[in-house]
Amino acid sequence: MGAGRELFGVRKDGSRLPIEVGLDVLRSGSDVMVLASIFDASERHAARQRADEASALAQSIIDSAAFPIIATDIDGRVLEFSPSAERVLRLRKADLLGQRLPIVVREQAGSAVPLIELDDSAEPGPARGRRGAMPFGNGEMREYVWRCADGTRVPIHLAVSGLRNRSGTLFGYIAILYDLSERKRYEEHMRIIAEQDALTGLPNRLVLHERLAAAIGAVEREGGQVGVLLIDLDNFKRVNDSLGHYMGDKLLGLVAARLRSCIRVNDMVARMGGDEFVVVLAGIRRPIIAQLVARKIVRELCRPLELDGHTVEISPSIGICLYPTDAVTVDDLIKNADTAMYAAKEAGRGRFMPFSHEMADAASERWRIEHAMRLAMGRNEFCVAYQPQVDLRSARVTGVEALLRWPGVDGATTSPAHFIPVAEQTGLIAPIGEWVLRTACREISQLDADGVPGLRLSINLSPRQLRESNMIEIVSDTLADNNFDPERLELEITESAFVDDDVAHAIMQLHELGVRVAIDDFGTGYSSLSQVTRFPLDRLKIDRVFVQDVAAGMRHAAVTAAIIAMGRHMGIDVVAEGIETEAQARALREQGCQEGQGFLYSQAVPIGELAEAIHRIESRG
Ligand code: C2E
Ligand code: MG
Ligand code: MG
Repeated sequence: MGAGRELFGVRKDGSRLPIEVGLDVLRSGSDVMVLASIFDASERHAARQRADEASALAQSIIDSAAFPIIATDIDGRVLEFSPSAERVLRLRKADLLGQRLPIVVREQAGSAVPLIELDDSAEPGPARGRRGAMPFGNGEMREYVWRCADGTRVPIHLAVSGLRNRSGTLFGYIAILYDLSERKRYEEHMRIIAEQDALTGLPNRLVLHERLAAAIGAVEREGGQVGVLLIDLDNFKRVNDSLGHYMGDKLLGLVAARLRSCIRVNDMVARMGGDEFVVVLAGIRRPIIAQLVARKIVRELCRPLELDGHTVEISPSIGICLYPTDAVTVDDLIKNADTAMYAAKEAGRGRFMPFSHEMADAASERWRIEHAMRLAMGRNEFCVAYQPQVDLRSARVTGVEALLRWPGVDGATTSPAHFIPVAEQTGLIAPIGEWVLRTACREISQLDADGVPGLRLSINLSPRQLRESNMIEIVSDTLADNNFDPERLELEITESAFVDDDVAHAIMQLHELGVRVAIDDFGTGYSSLSQVTRFPLDRLKIDRVFVQDVAAGMRHAAVTAAIIAMGRHMGIDVVAEGIETEAQARALREQGCQEGQGFLYSQAVPIGELAEAIHRIESRG
């Protein structure tokens, strides 16, 4: 037996050759012989060199890999611990080599799993692993949280696979980690962006739904009620339009802060979008508490706000809905609070209103009408009727008031008093109103050509039309399209509309177009006379309620007499509406009222019957 030793031989041509020399001692009696055998060792030499290179490569991969790499033997004793693993797990390779890996990772789901099985003495962490088995070894990536000795938690992705030799025997494990900290931070950032309203920092609609559902769950377990307050700012649009969006945004921020100051820590305030906020009062014992909070919010938001030197006044309208009395699902709670908020707005702004089922009925009726109106628009089912306006002295017809008509399938006509308010609330009034204007102008122009020339045309405009649509453009286009003299067009606007600054502005512009402006239903609105007298008005229309009583005695007659006298002094014409009897007509004439309209003369009639109605009135004298 001889141990091979690697040496180099030199060939004849001078090249070096790795050789192995074996020496064997042979004995024969007293003779000793040494047998030297020389082998060519080139193959083995090359193989050893390759192995050295491979191991150097493996080491450099481990050292420079961006991912932390850990290798252990089959008992979990550390063989390799890459520099990036040191950095991420905050451990030192020098302390670990040959040690069992003191690593415990905790699965997100809550159960603790050792990275590579540990024995009972393993520290830190709550896991008590069993020796031997690998918890997972298929190289599958899973998410864990690594707890550093100082308590810092590092989220990681981890894959462990077995290390096997050529013959397939398991001799260790290799773990590859991926540090998720950055990604988690980014995800958290995105979550906050998604859940938070960027402008006010309040939770958004998404979170509102979650939290409201949680509040309902809590009340189900513990009793009590949940209060939902839907808050809408009454005049936000005006602030936004007049001071600009930047100030509008600032205002919303201030409102958010005031709302927060009105509620307790357990309650929440979220922004629904626009100028709408929702407050959730979790687990209140008595319904009255929701109203107390609502009252406080009204008081707080009505206090003037300072915006970069401007003092701004706003007010909220608040609808209150309670779980479980008023609704039991998140969607219904918000919907009913919204219904109550609308009722609060209609009742005059700056107030709160608890939800009631009558409100819901009214809201669904409104929805039904709106839906039917949209269909009717599409099918061109609306038409315009014209009520003549008569000169009370000469009995000549001077003009007509265009009144919208919606004939139903059964021949009955739905009153505009019923559906116009709905159209105003839903914004449908803009397209319908434009249609009325264009249709009436066209039909009355046609009547000019058909032999009834020069009638003045009165059109009713709702405040919302003046506030929201490009009414000025529409009016001037319509006049131009029909070659209609602006002086012949009169726009009837109700008195209360003059209070709104935007509407007032639109009225001024209309006046500049040369059209006439009349105050409809004069005497029934909320405006003060001084407000009305600021405007360039052409006519006052005395409301029907005063006309009804004009012949009933001195006291009643005094109201119409006063309006007529006022008109005379201001140089404004007066027209009385709703004249039903000769006595009323006579009394008004005696008071100096120039014109009137009403059933005494004619109902509103379709365009085809207008010439005949006019003829009938004028021939009666
Ligand atoms: P309004 O502008 O004050 O119109 C007068 C209403 O009194 C009309 O009711 C008319 O038919 C009715 N009326 C006329 N003479 C008499 C009478 O002698 N006795 C009685 N009891 N009533 C009389 P109508 O057509 O139902 O319209 C109701 C309201 O609907 C109108 O009040 C107006 O505010 C609104 N409206 C009608 N058409 C339109 C429209 O095209 N656009 C807008 N924005 N509002 C409209
Ligand atoms: Mg009118
Ligand atoms: Mg009227």
